[in-house]
Amino acid sequence: MPAAADASHAPTLRSWVASANGHGEFPIQNLPHGVFSPPGQEPRGGVAIGDEILDLAALLTSGLCTGELQPVLAAAAQPELNGFLALGAPARRALRARLSQLLAKGAPEQGRLEAMLHRSADCSMSLPARIGDYTDFYAGIHHATNIGALFRPENPLLPNYKHVPIGYHGRASSIRPSGSAVTRPNGQRKRPDEAAPSFGPCRSLDYELELGIWIGSGNGLGEPIAIDAAAQHIAGLCLLNDWSARDIQAWEYQPLGPFLAKSFTTTISPWIVTAEALAPFRIAQPPRPEGDPAPLPYLLGEADQREGAFAIDFEVLLLTPAMREKEQPPHRLSRGASHDLYWTIGQLIAHHSSNGCNLQPGDLLGSGTISGATAGSFGSLMEITRAGRETIALPGGETRTYLRDGDEIVMRARASREGFASIGFGECRARILPAPG
Ligand code: MN
Repeated sequence: MPAAADASHAPTLRSWVASANGHGEFPIQNLPHGVFSPPGQEPRGGVAIGDEILDLAALLTSGLCTGELQPVLAAAAQPELNGFLALGAPARRALRARLSQLLAKGAPEQGRLEAMLHRSADCSMSLPARIGDYTDFYAGIHHATNIGALFRPENPLLPNYKHVPIGYHGRASSIRPSGSAVTRPNGQRKRPDEAAPSFGPCRSLDYELELGIWIGSGNGLGEPIAIDAAAQHIAGLCLLNDWSARDIQAWEYQPLGPFLAKSFTTTISPWIVTAEALAPFRIAQPPRPEGDPAPLPYLLGEADQREGAFAIDFEVLLLTPAMREKEQPPHRLSRGASHDLYWTIGQLIAHHSSNGCNLQPGDLLGSGTISGATAGSFGSLMEITRAGRETIALPGGETRTYLRDGDEIVMRARASREGFASIGFGECRARILPAPG
């Protein structure tokens, strides 16, 4: 058993919330935090359990969590969870232990708690926190290789890739929770065969499958986070779709990197799957291939290498308007796994703060697109279609290179390990609306 696993992870644990038992995403072993609104009511903090959400604002007034837990629960019941994230791991673990007790089969409090449950299907989800800053990394080495090979077949990875975690500062204001529509951006683009750029709807709209990382406690300006302390700053994870306008990107990105091709919208799954829920699914960072440089000392930690990666699997699905009309299931475009990240999340955090930059509770990091080495595991259409040169055949006879209006992208993830109950992330889903005329 991983050292950090406790009674709340026991695979035999059952809940009196019947839908939680055997639930693919939210069994009692998960207990992710989010912000939800019951029908016609104001947003407040909640925890997903099976097909229900436990209202933490109602729990707060019930007197069932007292003493040191009271301020922790108060922070987790807010309509923005920044204060809760700032409390760090011990507070989250204590609340998790109490919620696990309260929701376990046989809990004497069941009768009182039943009135605090809301059917998830009836509720709307908000962003779980006010996101001060969003940074997107590029840690998926197969993605970086695949994209690089489209431009430099002989030398796909730039010389810095294996030495420095590559990233850029993204846009926090346009991050939206799953279910919010995405408007196709207008922008300046120029195909190689066009003499001059023009302004209009993106012609190569793509998605990127990424892990989102919620920062818990932060660091002061000028006080870098050491690699050995980095894991303590991870509050939890979510799914992240880094929507990408490839034609706008190709024209604008040199020399300063992504800008309007990325900032129009980013979609995340709305639940924070906590670092504590993910404790059993920590795995060793895969060893670097023979001949790769060792990380510099500030990025190399013994514990981080031993248990800094996660056993998480992903899938990306596409639902077109025609498929929706015929009530066909979405078509799976790819499967991926988080062990294909070249850098651990701890290394991303240590690097981000290594110059003294301060991370704050509720900051969001993107891992970079997660792709595997082989076809069927590519995390973007640019890779699957080789920059639009190849088409994807869909059931029903449709084809795609990039996304059309009305298309919907669905991402799902699952953490699993022999001997433990698997947990999921909830969907990261959004539909494309036409560009403004
Ligand atoms: Mn990205």
